[in-house]
Amino acid sequence: MSTIMSDRVWANRYEQELVFLRRHFHKYPELSNEEGKTAEFISKYLVDCGLEIHESLAGHGVIGILKGLEGPSIGFRFDMDALPIEEETDRDFKSVYRNKMHACGHDGHMAVGLIAAKILSQMRSRLNGNILFIFQPAEENLPEGGAKRLVQDGKTLLSGLTGIFGFHFWPALKTGEIAVVPGALMAAGDVFEVEFTGKGAHGATPQHSSDVLMMASNAVIALTSVVLRNIEPGVPATLSVTVLEGGKTANVLPANALIRGTTRYLCRDFRNLFPEKIKAVLEGICKAYNGSHVLNYTYGYPLLENDFRMTQIIKACAGEMESGIDVITEVKPSLASEDFSVYLKTTPGCYYWVGCSREEGNWENCLHSPKFDLDESALKIATEMILTICKRFI
Ligand SMILES: [Zn+2]
Ligand SMILES: [Zn+2]
Repeated sequence: MSTIMSDRVWANRYEQELVFLRRHFHKYPELSNEEGKTAEFISKYLVDCGLEIHESLAGHGVIGILKGLEGPSIGFRFDMDALPIEEETDRDFKSVYRNKMHACGHDGHMAVGLIAAKILSQMRSRLNGNILFIFQPAEENLPEGGAKRLVQDGKTLLSGLTGIFGFHFWPALKTGEIAVVPGALMAAGDVFEVEFTGKGAHGATPQHSSDVLMMASNAVIALTSVVLRNIEPGVPATLSVTVLEGGKTANVLPANALIRGTTRYLCRDFRNLFPEKIKAVLEGICKAYNGSHVLNYTYGYPLLENDFRMTQIIKACAGEMESGIDVITEVKPSLASEDFSVYLKTTPGCYYWVGCSREEGNWENCLHSPKFDLDESALKIATEMILTICKRFI
């Protein structure tokens, strides 16, 4: 592909529309597997740009194909869902819905995807290959996630891709920085649930009960220590218990209690270690308190590992961007999980972080925070990056 106008000029030309689209998605957020209106908007936009559209993939997923001349096919993935968070910003485009918010920047990802499609569709006659714009639902829906279903539903469309790429706006990086790192970048994430059962009793006669609340609260402490006493200090891994339920009345020791939690790790061996250790801890506690338990451990998103060769190419793309980007090649991987990892199991590709913070170290402005906001000038940088990648492959 050769471009007459530079990528930066193209991205700048559409800056206003990038902001408009991001704010539109932000104002009308939809939760995982409920992205119907978002999908409708995306499909219409892509049809207007002249792309071939495939809808209802993995629920509300949309793939738009921009067909050029003979050549390779590459794909870009953009996630679509919002989170069940009550927005606490005072922006005039804040969410109109209670307890729904684009607090993970997926509003910005979609805006960038649509504008990149619009710009590239105007260069169609000079494209030597095809570009797939993959709009994926339910990224936040650990452990199922939309990627797994989309890979199944879109199997024929996605087969034979030369490369697949994705990005996340990353508030820990400043606007103008892009992190492109080979190997493990984001953690594997699993979830577990434990139901404790024992003998209930009067609150005045604990000797007649198995005290499931003691079992559950001891389990929270013991499970949280699994990482401390089984994994070498400094190795990134964590276990968090995030739900603790049981009991209703002040004078009754209940017969049932429940905990839920998540494990995150960057080392493949921990895929077996965590469920084994959790099982051992629970067996010990139940024996001590004379109760029983059922453990459901569900594997979630796999480890996100960037392909080495593709990462080198993407790094070079970031380095040659006209906007003068600071390319960061060494970062501490994140213990957050991301189901882009599913695509990387079958197609070589690279996932990168695009900085979107005006100030350094503003921890209030982190992903999934009710106060999250992104620096909208990062939208054109992310768009320019996609144009630069396309120029390299197509
Ligand atoms: Zn998220
Ligand atoms: Zn996200």
